[in-house]
Amino acid sequence: MLIHYWDCKKTRQFISFLRNEKRGIEEMKQFKNISKQYQHGIFWGLTILGIKILGSVPQFIELIYARNIYPIIAIINRWFAALFPVSIGDLLYFWGFAYLIYQILQLLIQIKSPKEQFFKISTFLLKTIWLFYLSWGLNYFREPLAKNLHLSTEKYTAAQLLEVTDSLIIRTNRLQKQLTGNDSLAVKIPYSLDKILQKTPEGYRQIESYINTKYSVPCIKTSLFSKQISYMSVSGYINPFTGEAQVNKFYPKVFLPDIASHEVAHQLGYAPENEANFLGYLAATQHPDLYFNYSGYINALYYFLVELRHYDSKIYQTYIKKLHKGVLKNFKEAQIFHRKYRFPIDFSSTYDSYLKLNNQKTGLHSYNEMVQLVIAFELQKEK
Ligand SMILES: [Zn+2]
Repeated sequence: MLIHYWDCKKTRQFISFLRNEKRGIEEMKQFKNISKQYQHGIFWGLTILGIKILGSVPQFIELIYARNIYPIIAIINRWFAALFPVSIGDLLYFWGFAYLIYQILQLLIQIKSPKEQFFKISTFLLKTIWLFYLSWGLNYFREPLAKNLHLSTEKYTAAQLLEVTDSLIIRTNRLQKQLTGNDSLAVKIPYSLDKILQKTPEGYRQIESYINTKYSVPCIKTSLFSKQISYMSVSGYINPFTGEAQVNKFYPKVFLPDIASHEVAHQLGYAPENEANFLGYLAATQHPDLYFNYSGYINALYYFLVELRHYDSKIYQTYIKKLHKGVLKNFKEAQIFHRKYRFPIDFSSTYDSYLKLNNQKTGLHSYNEMVQLVIAFELQKEK
């Protein structure tokens, strides 16, 4: 009996010891996990800091990353993505978003240690940012395209703005008449959306020697989130993780050749919006297809007219009167689209901050800075 009592006591002590030991081990594991997460967080954070420091040396980014590393990453990504008819980048976004929501919910209901959960989410975000810069984002920090194309970076004069706007109006009006046979009819592109995307690379073949960049392994798709991005006034985007160019299938068709060409410029490593707008304009207007030319001119004209309105609203009004009714009807299509997909929340300030964070000092206005590049290009042609 005594022995049995001793045994029971010992056993209880032993069980208690084991429990404490188990708790101790779990606490130790948790501590190790948190310190591991800390280390991960610090490692990824420092890597991003390193990337940002590298970004302050544009010559390095241009010579090492943009001209040698990025083209290989881009071709592998596009080759892989092109194997799938749907956008795998969009599916990846969907998974990433769902994963993040799930992890945040776990943090809020505190199933696991909140600290551990918090570091898990932070590490996921830091890894995503790291991958973003490595697979495409570093292109934001390369040397300006104007320098590589020997285009003047001097601010244009009012006379030059008026001269090139006039020239764009003449070319847009001429094409509108040629494509419809009537001043008052809007241009309707007779191709399917797939056909437009399929034809887009031809424009880049016309300008590849001028920009010294070849567009191989095309991969342009419609966005799976076309409806959602319509409410954000987004006409297209590049997926930096898969290299796919995405266009909004609901956007008025007449603008799509230029939009697709703009996204291809991003695929080629021209991240800034003014440069992608300019290259999109060049590729579309040099395209052998007249519908592409019209799309390129009408898009450029939009930015020139916005610039002109800032400069002098009276002159702007006289220039608007020069446009054919058919051209105005095409502009109206874009206006109707934006009105149809109006959303109470304005996402533009978030996007503006994103651009400013990524070396685009003027944020959203950088789209308009294509005017500077087009004027410099047109003046260079005249010489
Ligand atoms: Zn863009």
